[in-house]
Amino acid sequence: MILTDIIHLLPDNIANQIAAGEVIQRPGSAVKELLENAVDAGADEIKLIINDAGKSLVQVIDNGRGMSETDARMAFERHATSKIKNIDDLFRIKTMGFRGEALASIAAVAQVELKTKREEDQSGTYIEIENSKVKKQEPIAFNRGTSIAMKNLFFNVPARRNFLKSNTAELRHIVEEFTRVAMAFPDIFFSLQSNGQEVFHLEKGSFKQRIVQILGNSYNAKLVSVEEQTDYLNIMGFVGKPETAKKTRGDQYLFVNNRFIKSAYLNHAIMNAFSAMIPKDSFPMYALFIDLDPAQLDINVHPTKQEIKFEDDKIVYAFVQSAVKHALAQFSITPTLDFELDPNIQRLDAVSKPITAEQKSSTTSSSLFQTFSQKNQAHFVERNSDLKHWKDFYESPSSQHQEAGTTSTQSPTALHKSYESEQPMLQLHQTYIVVQREGGFILVHQQNAHERILYERYTHAVAGKPIATQQSLFPVTIELSPADAVLLVELLPDMKELGYQLEPFGQNTFVIQGTPADVGNGTEKGSIEKIIEQYKHFSNDLKYSKREKLLRSMSLQNSIKAGIVLTQKEMQGLVNDLFACETANTTPNGKPTFMTFQKEEMDKMFGR
Ligand code: ADP
Ligand code: MG
Repeated sequence: MILTDIIHLLPDNIANQIAAGEVIQRPGSAVKELLENAVDAGADEIKLIINDAGKSLVQVIDNGRGMSETDARMAFERHATSKIKNIDDLFRIKTMGFRGEALASIAAVAQVELKTKREEDQSGTYIEIENSKVKKQEPIAFNRGTSIAMKNLFFNVPARRNFLKSNTAELRHIVEEFTRVAMAFPDIFFSLQSNGQEVFHLEKGSFKQRIVQILGNSYNAKLVSVEEQTDYLNIMGFVGKPETAKKTRGDQYLFVNNRFIKSAYLNHAIMNAFSAMIPKDSFPMYALFIDLDPAQLDINVHPTKQEIKFEDDKIVYAFVQSAVKHALAQFSITPTLDFELDPNIQRLDAVSKPITAEQKSSTTSSSLFQTFSQKNQAHFVERNSDLKHWKDFYESPSSQHQEAGTTSTQSPTALHKSYESEQPMLQLHQTYIVVQREGGFILVHQQNAHERILYERYTHAVAGKPIATQQSLFPVTIELSPADAVLLVELLPDMKELGYQLEPFGQNTFVIQGTPADVGNGTEKGSIEKIIEQYKHFSNDLKYSKREKLLRSMSLQNSIKAGIVLTQKEMQGLVNDLFACETANTTPNGKPTFMTFQKEEMDKMFGR
């Protein structure tokens, strides 16, 4: 038997890809690392641009100090950092980064384009790297600062690309990371643009203003200031007044030396301070900053630095607890002064709206809609505006038979309703259904029609005719952002009537016990995520109740979209269901579901 040696060194790019797994797990991890680098570079303006939830692009542009040509090249080497020199520095850390791994990791698993320039340099540097290899390097004209674009994450590691979650889920992680960095640095301007739309626009301001910018105006005048200083450590920040506590762990942020950290231990200290003031099963808002000598902690216990170790965690616990207690006690005797919100910030509500399915469908349908609705068009066909007589125009086959003898005496303009059941329906542009009638034809918009059908079905469900739940054989769990979890808890009772059975299961997590029968196996999670997304787009609309928003979100979300090919049977079913609705002629939002075209009018147009 021949024995050969079998151990060999991995090539650099493979070693880098493996190491990258620790630091870059998803687009959100790159967001965190790139934002932190921009903060470390001293920028006071940082823009984050993402496409496809970061899967195709994550780009961070800063106006920080930039890099020299040599540094720009060095930055992508593993263990290359300007932030520490020796092991002692580890305990003097004032920067967000120090491990020198982020850029090397990103370059190992994506295509990277770097542009950078220092104030003092004549020209800047452009570098293109892919799979850890430099593809291109050349001087460029650039403003002071750095732009790093990470494209096609995991393009060379398909197995990991397949592990990425839905865009909604990945986007949530991105927003979470963005929020954590932006919250800690209110004197830096931050923006986040997703698929060309500005989602966050955070002007520089006070810490309090930043909290309201991010968590919403509902916290305005509902924050209690926490501020204590000792020789050992300082704490500053805000906790929400007890009445803002929510039923799920929502807006809770803890920072140590400006770094967002997770600590069940310190969370417990804060919860304890609130204990007598809020119901047992609710969670207060907090955003607290603990500052202490870096020598008193070890931030190098976790690759993404979200967990840290305190030299003496009992002291920190006691201090945090008493600081919060103290603040709450003061608040209950002396009401805090409400602060004036910068008018610049007020307008921010409006910027957080990505494109909705609704907006999309209205743009796609609008050109056709206009062609048919402009009066001066030759082919304009007057639409029966109140459509009171649509029943005359369309009747279901069964009722048709009974009334067949009485229909011939309609007024000349009314369309006759004799149903031609042999006539197949026609789908146009995978969007419209043409239904021929003796008196002309009806053009049905498939999504609008289905929205109306679902809306009425759901309305009946919450009014006491619950939709049956199909129990999941293998219940799956769904994890949400703190904000979304709060929202879902509010919706649970109504969702139950609509066939969704969900149980809270620990921090921001729910078990999906069952869904309505028409939600396919394996799509339960996505369906719930989409409903939440849709619900949020309605959430600024004050004229609707919570329930009404939910019904509208679900009808929009679950409706058949344009682009779906329908069979004869499906078209017949859809059209019949539509005309069985109480208000068949519009969507819940008032868009038309169908239009009628009179044969008589068409004959006239053609001189007949
Ligand atoms: P670390 O942040 O741990 O040092 P990184 O891999 O994130 O490691 O970055 C490597 C180095 O590249 C940094 O130490 C810094 O010198 C430089 N660098 C990275 N991003 C920027 C930036 N946006 N502006 C200026 N320098 C940067
Ligand atoms: Mg870094």
